[in-house]
Amino acid sequence: MRTDDATYYDVVIVGSGFGGLAAARRLRGRGETALLISSTPEHLFQPLLYQVATGGLGREDIAPRTDTLLRRHRNVEVVEGVVTAVDAMPAVLTYRADGRDHRVHYGSLIAATGAAQSYFGRDEYADRTFALKTIDDATRLRAHLRACFDAPVDDAAATTFVVVGAGATGVEVAGQIAELARRHERREVAITLVEGLDDVLPAFGGGLSEYSRRALEKSGVEVLTGSMVTDISDGVVTVNVNDGAATRKIATDTVVWSAGVSASDFAGVLAEATGCYTDRAGRLLVNDDLTVGGVANIYAIGDMTSLRGYPGQSPVAMQQGRHAVDIITRKRAPGSVFHYRDKGSMSIISRGRAVAKLTERITFRGLMAFVAWLGVHLYYLAGVGNRAKAVVAWVRSFVGSARPGFDEVVEAPRPEPARIAG
Ligand SMILES: Cc1cc2nc3c(=O)[nH]c(=O)nc-3n(C[C@H](O)[C@H](O)[C@H](O)COP(=O)(O)OP(=O)(O)OC[C@H]3O[C@@H](n4cnc5c(N)ncnc54)[C@H](O)[C@@H]3O)c2cc1C
Repeated sequence: MRTDDATYYDVVIVGSGFGGLAAARRLRGRGETALLISSTPEHLFQPLLYQVATGGLGREDIAPRTDTLLRRHRNVEVVEGVVTAVDAMPAVLTYRADGRDHRVHYGSLIAATGAAQSYFGRDEYADRTFALKTIDDATRLRAHLRACFDAPVDDAAATTFVVVGAGATGVEVAGQIAELARRHERREVAITLVEGLDDVLPAFGGGLSEYSRRALEKSGVEVLTGSMVTDISDGVVTVNVNDGAATRKIATDTVVWSAGVSASDFAGVLAEATGCYTDRAGRLLVNDDLTVGGVANIYAIGDMTSLRGYPGQSPVAMQQGRHAVDIITRKRAPGSVFHYRDKGSMSIISRGRAVAKLTERITFRGLMAFVAWLGVHLYYLAGVGNRAKAVVAWVRSFVGSARPGFDEVVEAPRPEPARIAG
């Protein structure tokens, strides 16, 4: 539906990710009028991006249209557009859509624009590496992997893969490329996972990190912890290994970058509009009730914010989205402090191997964690049709050796090795 100049909504939500969607869903059946503006037409289930990249799932399985998901929310309109400016005093924002600017007045604003990739000052890496933040990133990587596996057997750079960052995304990508090579493509490949800290999956720590490292190594992934990538150019990745004890040069066509995040550009726009401070990653240091700076009717949630060290994970964004709506709709008192209810974290490594941490003391690993991972991700995968398709796809890829999404890629011109040339 169109929004013309000077349209008013009680609530405007920016972003259709986990935070924005949870906020919009919370408004169902309430009296407030709401507009959700997002730069993408879909709600993206980012935790499964690596499955699209490695062909376990199709693009449409993890990125349903937001207006379809919200079709029963009669008081919530959805438009595609990029919010570019906010004026806090007359409470009006500007978004760009269809080549022109639109202005909307709001009663309350909820910003949930997420995070972008960070290259720690080496922005040129953006053109030399593959990211995994958007659905296009995932399909681009998938097409590239397809081309790499189709390369002649003596093309070593095509079947050498470097993954930077051993958080959940890096571990999942490295593990899945190994599975793809062994079980689906039946090709010998070299995969190196580089991590600056001393542990794989540092957020899990202890026995779970150790288990994850062993599981990756069993899958054929070389793990370099305490190691930093110091250069990526001319098709070669230079790694400072073991805190400087040695230097490795790895010739490769594929570097997947999953090493850091910075807040989305819109966090900077809001910081300026409200006087809110940001941290080094540009994340808004929001107030305890999720309001921004000194402005009582602007809330920011999810990955674009920093509050009490809460992790950049989907449950935080969703809980914050609901909290902000509850204050706006007076279900909670104004100024109510947000507290995150941590239900634990999990990460998959390979078929039958995963780790889960519910509390510091309740942890599990192996097949049990793998089954729990499947269940939890199915539960949260938005859209019932997608859930059914995911079950079928996972049975085919985890029980059998098919990669339904990977086989769909028919046209994938092999990128030049200069793809990552300096
Ligand atoms: C590869 C990957 C794997 C992950 N795995 C896990 C996991 O296993 N478990 C977990 O809990 N978390 C995981 N996360 C983190 C989780 O996805 C994020 O914490 C969550 O998406 C944050 O939600 P959000 O609403 O803050 O932002 P996002 O979900 O990123 O949504 C941001 C939205 O804002 C829109 N947007 C941006 N700028 C503008 C603008 N100016 N105007 C309009 N719209 C805009 C975007 O289009 C998008 O719709 C993973 C993330 C990635 C990238």
